[in-house]
Amino acid sequence: MELTVLGSGSAMPVPDRAQAGYLLDDGDRSLLVDCGSGVLQRLAGTETGYEGVSTVLLTHHHLDHVSALLPLLKARWLAGAEHLEVVGPTGTKSLVDGLLDVHDYLDGRVDLAVREVSAARPFAAAGFDVAARETRHSMDGLAYRFSPPSSDTDPAAGPLALSGDTEAFAGMAAFADGSDLLVHDCSFPDGTDVSNHPNPAELGASLAGVDVDTLLLSHLYPHTGGREREMARSVREAGFDGEVDVASDGLRVEL
Ligand SMILES: [Zn+2]
Ligand SMILES: [Zn+2]
Repeated sequence: MELTVLGSGSAMPVPDRAQAGYLLDDGDRSLLVDCGSGVLQRLAGTETGYEGVSTVLLTHHHLDHVSALLPLLKARWLAGAEHLEVVGPTGTKSLVDGLLDVHDYLDGRVDLAVREVSAARPFAAAGFDVAARETRHSMDGLAYRFSPPSSDTDPAAGPLALSGDTEAFAGMAAFADGSDLLVHDCSFPDGTDVSNHPNPAELGASLAGVDVDTLLLSHLYPHTGGREREMARSVREAGFDGEVDVASDGLRVEL
């Protein structure tokens, strides 16, 4: 399967980073994870396009992860697509209902299914097998670990882990242990006074001794601009001993 970073940015826009969005492709199946502002433009630039995405999986309901959800529904309606499934943590149903209350002319335009999932049991989304765990953030949310469609791999041991928005902590590191690629929130450089998101030193320390081949720093606030190399170095110095890359929109990783 292939991961494409559609949006490596955050709630504070910068010109070259859309808000949160990732595309998982496996030949026939495509899954969009999060759908922040700017993600549809990036998606339109992929071979899959918004026409090819009939399932969206949400990590949580902050605006920078869901703001292009109804624009996706409308784009698919206009393109003649018939289905959209939105999968996400508890509250996803009321989120979608609320959005459709405001934009009621979109209600019923496509066959819309909404499904709430939890960390309690693995599930499938667009054919991908997914395991979840709770994040530590200013809003409840889920991190996900993925196995490709029709693989025998237990999703909890799948090759891709995606943290969503979260502080760095041992439980998240354990959840990602053994993955080929971990995409982790690293919103701010060291020295920024924040909570609910990690800085590189905290992230690196949490991942000391954890077996992850490549760590991709994402959900980047404007504060990280020009400090990417320093952030990657800090993660390694704090104890993570795999490869560290900084996400950019359009980056594709084969898994
Ligand atoms: Zn966010
Ligand atoms: Zn958030």
